[in-house]
Amino acid sequence: MNSVIRVEGLNKSFGGKQVLFNMGLAVQPGEMVALIGASGSGKSTLLRHLSGLACGDKHGSSSISVMGRSVQSGGQLNGQVRRLRADIGYIFQQFNLVGRLSVLRNVLLGCLGRMPRWRGSLGMFTPEEKQLAMASLERVGLADYAHRRASTLSGGQQQRVAIARALTQRAEIILADEPIASLDPESARKVMDILADINEKDGKTVVVTLHQVDYAARYCKRVVALKSGHIHFDGSVDALDGVFLNDLYGGDLDTSL
Ligand code: ADP
Ligand code: MG
Repeated sequence: MNSVIRVEGLNKSFGGKQVLFNMGLAVQPGEMVALIGASGSGKSTLLRHLSGLACGDKHGSSSISVMGRSVQSGGQLNGQVRRLRADIGYIFQQFNLVGRLSVLRNVLLGCLGRMPRWRGSLGMFTPEEKQLAMASLERVGLADYAHRRASTLSGGQQQRVAIARALTQRAEIILADEPIASLDPESARKVMDILADINEKDGKTVVVTLHQVDYAARYCKRVVALKSGHIHFDGSVDALDGVFLNDLYGGDLDTSL
């Protein structure tokens, strides 16, 4: 099967300090993969490179391709990367909603990457787009909140709105960077249940960074563990053991399930 994400030889430095070392990773369509590792191990940097968000950066001789399209190293933000971004739904730890806009408007923003710019800049959405946005809100259990201001929702609800936005975007790949790090356990479980549901029922590929190892073990068959910018482990969650994990986190293991 062709990988939906393929990274080869990825090195990354910030101001002379190398933070990713010769990373290689292949993700198959429909996988749900957890990226784990201590704070500073390079999870977010790796995820940003997968998304094309870092495509303007120089990253040496590496090759990254997503959905068969090359994310050029040191390249310009070109049409190819724009199209790529339309296929990737990015979920942030801090939700990144526009707080003063309604929940529905926020979800509709997911359409922007696929509509003519003039229509986007006028905020003119078609009935089909509005229908899709409402169906996406329904999917995350927030249809009743469509006309509320986004900033009035709880953190867990805002994160579910962000997922509805990715659904409305019709993203093929969901990249989620610490989506549950700011949430209480119950909200965290709801968010992870929704991501797992999208992965299982819609076959979307999900790559999620998680500080909490037990969530990774519960939701993801495959775990990729980063340590100091190296891929330290890549395999089945069943192969992880406590000694390995304690070493990975230098004794700072976070379990909260
Ligand atoms: P994680 O997400 O696993 O916590 P990051 O990818 O955020 O790790 O960071 C990896 C390393 O890169 C850290 O040492 C961090 O300080 C460094 N780093 C990340 N982003 C930047 C940046 N924009 N400028 C300088 N250093 C950075
Ligand atoms: Mg991070």
